[in-house]
Amino acid sequence: MHGAGTAAERAATVEDFRHNLASVQERIAAACKSVGRDPSSVRLLPVSKTVDEARLRLAYEAGCRQLGENKVQEAAHKAEALADLPGLRWSVIGHLQTNKAKVVARFADEFQALDRLRVAEVLDRRLQAEGRGLDVLVQVNTSGEASKFGLPPEEVEAFVRQLPAFSSLRVRGLMTLAAFSADPDRVRPCFVRLRELRDRLRQDAPDGVAMDELSMGMSGDFELAITEGATTVRVGQAIFGPRATPDSHYWPG
Ligand SMILES: *Cc1c(COP(=O)(O)O)cnc(C)c1O
Repeated sequence: MHGAGTAAERAATVEDFRHNLASVQERIAAACKSVGRDPSSVRLLPVSKTVDEARLRLAYEAGCRQLGENKVQEAAHKAEALADLPGLRWSVIGHLQTNKAKVVARFADEFQALDRLRVAEVLDRRLQAEGRGLDVLVQVNTSGEASKFGLPPEEVEAFVRQLPAFSSLRVRGLMTLAAFSADPDRVRPCFVRLRELRDRLRQDAPDGVAMDELSMGMSGDFELAITEGATTVRVGQAIFGPRATPDSHYWPG
């Protein structure tokens, strides 16, 4: 399920991007239909890591208004280079070190990988200074793989209870990376775990904390994620084409 086999051809024109985006949207709609969900309940977040500025301009022209990036410096650099494109929003979806939090506070609209209070604290302080707010998702390690970032599921509730102290952070829900496997019987339980956790937390979420979002599913497994309740799918290679950088660059194991 993972890897180049699920990637589209390398998109190099606006037409390519229109085509790939439409085909991913069709797959989203089909997955929704199979479980009686409304396709508008799923947000497609195109993931643009390793894609250069020139191709991102084409993706923008094809309709992308939000881009996900794993690495903060790469994201900040692109945000600056593309600042002339109206309405383009940036989502940081990778692990964040505290010393980079100030960069995120400056340009990002969303951060999907919150898993430490220290990061929440530094982010909040920098956001206050910038007069900005930030949508955040709490990252959960649902696969038990040591190479994955995120909190163990059993620690999430206590963690979330601390978050109202950070008033610049708008908590929206949870994010996970499933096990990297071609076997749906290994992947699906990760998605189920995240949904069940979200449902449980939603019952008595602290004031100001929303527990609606479930960010789960990538090029290789987004349809499965949708059937298990994903509200955001993070899709790179099925839109942009295969990446040369191995996944171990993003999830060192
Ligand atoms: C790269 C990445 C994705 C997208 O992966 P693809 O295989 O390109 O669809 C999703 N989530 C995170 C956190 C990523 O770093």
